[in-house]
Amino acid sequence: MSTPSESGKTLVTLILGDGIGAEVSGSARRIVDATGAPIEWEEREAGAEVFKRGLPSGVPQDTIDSINRSRVVLKGPLETPVGFGEKSANVTLRKLFETYANIRPARELPGVVTPYTGRGVDLVVVRENVEDLYAGIEHMQTPGVAQCLKLISRKGCEKIVRLAFEFARSEGRTSVACATKSNIMKLTEGMLKRTFEEIAAEYPEIEAWHVIVDNCAHQLVKRPEQFDVIVTTNMNGDILSDLTSGLVGGLGFAPSANLGSDVAIFEAVHGSAPKYAGKDTINPTAMIGASIMMLRHLGMFDQAAAIESAILFTLESGVATRDVVGDERAVGTTAFTDAVISNLGRRAAAYQERAYRPIEMPSFSPDPVRVRPAQRAVVGVDVFVESELQPDQLGPSVEQLAEGSRLRLKVVTNRGTRVYPSTGTMTDCVDSYPCRFVPAAGGEVTDADVIDLLGRIGAEHRWNHIEKLYEFDGEPAFTKAQGED
Ligand code: NAP
Repeated sequence: MSTPSESGKTLVTLILGDGIGAEVSGSARRIVDATGAPIEWEEREAGAEVFKRGLPSGVPQDTIDSINRSRVVLKGPLETPVGFGEKSANVTLRKLFETYANIRPARELPGVVTPYTGRGVDLVVVRENVEDLYAGIEHMQTPGVAQCLKLISRKGCEKIVRLAFEFARSEGRTSVACATKSNIMKLTEGMLKRTFEEIAAEYPEIEAWHVIVDNCAHQLVKRPEQFDVIVTTNMNGDILSDLTSGLVGGLGFAPSANLGSDVAIFEAVHGSAPKYAGKDTINPTAMIGASIMMLRHLGMFDQAAAIESAILFTLESGVATRDVVGDERAVGTTAFTDAVISNLGRRAAAYQERAYRPIEMPSFSPDPVRVRPAQRAVVGVDVFVESELQPDQLGPSVEQLAEGSRLRLKVVTNRGTRVYPSTGTMTDCVDSYPCRFVPAAGGEVTDADVIDLLGRIGAEHRWNHIEKLYEFDGEPAFTKAQGED
């Protein structure tokens, strides 16, 4: 997944970034070059200056063309301007190149004192990067009720799970934990758990286990050393990976890789920290860590090991930036970089040999369909009704409106709880009521039944959307509300 340049070197697109970007990216580049790694940098722009020139995406075509050629990017932080420009150029890059996996290692470092020092934290969070709530599909159901679609696909689960196992293999890691909230979201989060359990069987040498995500957070704080690789959905991973960065010293030390089938983007987790721009004080370790990940991705293991050992040696010898040792003992970004370069070839006590090998990027068929049931049936429909009525008024009203149609009201819910027929409990309702209809006399629900029903309900109430209730191969493909029988 890399491209040789005309000089025979490997082409890498380098985006220096905004704010402190030039300092941290410049540091990483100098160190990589000092190892003699055969890399030809193609410097391209994205971010603040591009927005200012009036390009709303913040990513010029020239940069896209370079990435299409190189397929490997080392990227400094990009500012998301407030007041002009539409979207984050970071997110645009990740989405344009479908980098579906975000890999965030967290490892204890010498000289970086945290409450976990001495515990040997060395783990990696593999976060799904394009689906889940972050697909950003949001609607207002009513003026006062917002919804965000949590979209999880079998294909997306296969991709992230396979990548997590392949990544574990490439680093000689022996355990992968899958963190989900499948006890509550059985269809969405449950899909990752089920996919994980199926695919784990193909990696018998790796221990595979499931952990509920809230317990995972708890365990990470209590006993982080029990984790090796954690694979998880987008939102869980966003939160867990910030937690794991915090375990080992925070943003100055958190590198990441965004991996896709075609393109890989390596960057620090932190942003452009504008207040430190140009001051030569910022910690470049996260960006240097990103370049180590990049070198391993390119199969340049010796150069990656040399930089890793040199960074550890530098920190062991007490040379560090102000965020680690305070203003009085600190060295600047340039001096820290010089120290790392001069320590290339030195072996740090904390350096740990791993059996690294090139990652086998999984390949996937472009077929959008992953699951083809032998049988499917529409066994009901949820009609979401906006109403100011209380449930004991709305229920009989829609019941009456459906009379004479092929469908009958089964249950009215409010934020997932049955409110009609009443359970005798007090639910504090909002003005969006999903009303669940099923066939009055058995059989399947047709589109004509739904259209007839919507006409009837629409005569008196405002409906805002519908969901068909499917059965695939005889299994219900929807959940029941709390209290629904
Ligand atoms: P930030 O740039 O990450 O900075 C927040 C704070 O984190 C800094 O003030 C500093 O803390 C600390 N920090 C960040 N990088 C550090 C480093 N290398 N060494 C030591 N400390 C470091 O977050 P932000 O201020 O919220 O965001 C600034 C801009 O960056 C925004 O435009 C945002 O959109 C963008 N951003 C980009 C990316 C990306 O490109 N991937 C990611 C996040 C944010 P102290 O003040 O305590 O010293």
